[in-house]
Amino acid sequence: MRLLEVRNLEVTYPGGVAAVRGVDLSLDAGRKLGVAGESGCGKSTLALSLLRLLPAQARVSGEILLDGEDVLTMRWGQVRAVRWAGASIVFQGAMHSLNPVHRIGDQIAEPILLHRRATAAAARTRTGELLEQVGLPVSRASAYPHELSGGQRQRVMIAMALACDPRLIIADEPTTALDVMIQAQILRLIEQLVAEQDVGLIMISHDLAVLADTCDRLAVMYAGRVVEEGPARQVYEDARHPYAGALSAAFPRIGDPASRFAPRGLAGDPPDPSAVPSGCAFHPRCPQALAVCATQDQALRDAGPGRQAACVHVGPTVPGPAVAAEDARSAT
Ligand code: ADP
Ligand code: MG
Repeated sequence: MRLLEVRNLEVTYPGGVAAVRGVDLSLDAGRKLGVAGESGCGKSTLALSLLRLLPAQARVSGEILLDGEDVLTMRWGQVRAVRWAGASIVFQGAMHSLNPVHRIGDQIAEPILLHRRATAAAARTRTGELLEQVGLPVSRASAYPHELSGGQRQRVMIAMALACDPRLIIADEPTTALDVMIQAQILRLIEQLVAEQDVGLIMISHDLAVLADTCDRLAVMYAGRVVEEGPARQVYEDARHPYAGALSAAFPRIGDPASRFAPRGLAGDPPDPSAVPSGCAFHPRCPQALAVCATQDQALRDAGPGRQAACVHVGPTVPGPAVAAEDARSAT
C-alpha cells in the first residue's frame, strides 16, 4: 500500500482564493518527493492540508490517504495521533517556532512524554539519541534556543519532527532561511535520516536545483496545480512543461541566493488565486503559448516513461500552427 496518496485535492480560502486546484500525488515509504513552484503556487497549503493544519475557514475536498486512511474524514483523535506518529512537518524559519524560554532538550522530550507515555528517564535517553542523530552534542540539550545558531535550531526542529518515529516527514522550505553551507548540511542530514529510517519525505522548495539533488521524484506546481511530475533529475534537466523548464533555468546552482527571489528569464508573477487565467493558467507568461492555451485547460498527460506534464505541446497530437505568445495573450 502507498504511504501517501492524494487524490483531486482542492483547497479554497475565503474570498474564492483557489490555492490548490485538483492535485494528485503519491509517495511510497522510503521515497523522496520534491514539490517545486514559485511563491504563491499553493505548496504550503498542500503541506498543511496533509495534516489538517489549515485554518478552519478553508474549504477542502478530495482525498488524502495516509496508509490507506483518509486524513480528511478522520476523527480528531486520529488526526492528533497521525500528527505525531504518522507524519510530521518541518517548517521554514523553524527558529521562530521554538519556545525561547524552554531548554531545547525539554522541547524535544515533550512530544515523547505526551504521545508515547514515556517515563522522564526514557524521554531523556531518547532526546539524547535524537540530538546525536541530527548531529548535535547531547550536552546541547540544556541550551536555550537563542544559544544556538540558525542551522543548529533547524537541526533541533528536525529532531522534534523525528521524535515519535513518523512514517512521513514534510519539510516546507526547511533550508530557505539558512546560508548555503548550512543549507547543504541540513539537506544531507534529512536525506540520510530518510534513508536510514525508511520514512517518506515530501520536500517543498521554490528551488528546483535543491530538489533535483535531494529527491527521487519531482512535482512542479503552478497556480495550485501540478503541471509536471516525474523522475527528479529528468524534470530538472529536461523539463516537458515550459513552466518547469523556466524554473529549472532560474535555479542553476544549489542555494544560489541571488536566484531566490526572481527566477531569471521568467517575467511576471504567478496569478492571483482568486483570478486564475482561463485555459492553461501559465499561458500569459508562456513563451510557447498557442491560441488554444488561452481557452483550453490542459490536464496532466503521458510525457515519457514515468513522466507526466500538463501542456498542449506534450503528447501525440500537438495542435498547430504555433502563434506568438502575443496572439495567445490577446485571445483572453
Ligand atoms: P506557497 O507555499 O507555494 O508560496 P501558499 O500555499 O502559501 O503558497 O499560498 C497559496 C495562495 O493562497 C497564496 O495566494 C496565498 O496568499 C493564499 N493563502 C495562503 N494562506 C492563506 C490563508 N490563510 N487565507 C487566505 N489566503 C491564503
Ligand atoms: Mg510556502
